Amino acid sequence: MKAAVLYSARDIRIEEVETPKLQTPGDVLIRVRASGICGSDLHTYRLAEPADPGQIMGHEYSGEVAEIGNEVQGLQVGDAVVAVSFGANAEYIRIPREGRGIIIPMPPTVSFAEAATIEPLANSVHIANLADPSDGDTIVVMGAGIIGLGTIQALRAMSSAKIIAVDFSDFRLSMARELGAEVTINAGQEDPYRKVLELTGSTSVAFMEATPAGNVDTVCDCAGWLAGHTGTPPVQQGLQMLRPKGKLIEHSIFEKTPEINFFLLARKEIQLQGSWGFTLEEYNQAADMIRSGKVDRKPLVTHEFPLDEAKKAFETQLQYEEAIKIVLKP
Ligand SMILES: [Zn+2]
Repeated sequence: MKAAVLYSARDIRIEEVETPKLQTPGDVLIRVRASGICGSDLHTYRLAEPADPGQIMGHEYSGEVAEIGNEVQGLQVGDAVVAVSFGANAEYIRIPREGRGIIIPMPPTVSFAEAATIEPLANSVHIANLADPSDGDTIVVMGAGIIGLGTIQALRAMSSAKIIAVDFSDFRLSMARELGAEVTINAGQEDPYRKVLELTGSTSVAFMEATPAGNVDTVCDCAGWLAGHTGTPPVQQGLQMLRPKGKLIEHSIFEKTPEINFFLLARKEIQLQGSWGFTLEEYNQAADMIRSGKVDRKPLVTHEFPLDEAKKAFETQLQYEEAIKIVLKP
């Protein structure tokens, strides 16, 4: 079969590799039809030396069941499914029984490409569940990539909270407005903290008069802090703009350590909540949001490439101003 194999930073090649075979009666073999490029794949593509040379990336995908072990129940050859496991930038992927990833039937009427975005939406649903939005809340979403945009969609599906989105890209911010953010702030043009104070009003807090609190209930940080980033880290801006007893949810990749003032956390009694991945229940919740039409993922799939053009696909995914989610079609 054909696969996109990563050798080192930005060195990805299409190669003929052995098609995986079932190894236990509990295994499933999937013919991959769409495989999304994740922020974590992009991080590996850009920076890392793969742990073992010859890594096949891709973990958010959809396809058809090609073969099943005789102990597998509830699946048939030919079923359209969405799944999560590693190595999906290839024509076939084996899902081992041990540590088996997720396989669920694909929502009917949903395309393979949209279905491949259920996994990142499940991350966003996890964030939104932790945010636990109420209708009158003001929530700031830092970073309008696939996770931040999905978080806006999930928050919007769950409440009528006021959502403010922050990013550097006008393209991504226009998408954020389309998907439910009421206000957007371009962090390259305005200071997000100052702008949020202007929008929500501010309160002076004793012992930290230089940093008045905004009136933000929850900040969802989906921006992180990457090697090339400069200025005030979004997580620090988030701590500044939160109201006393507000909540910060951290769901990002940090390529370097951000400078943050923990006195803001102490003085305002901020609740800091880490966030990573999702539960099976949240994966199903994400699939249901798409199935029911509460969430439309089509605008987020900005490009589709055949597997042969994996190199071009990854390079395009690096183009912040034009790409949101890129899907490979093996
Ligand atoms: Zn992912």
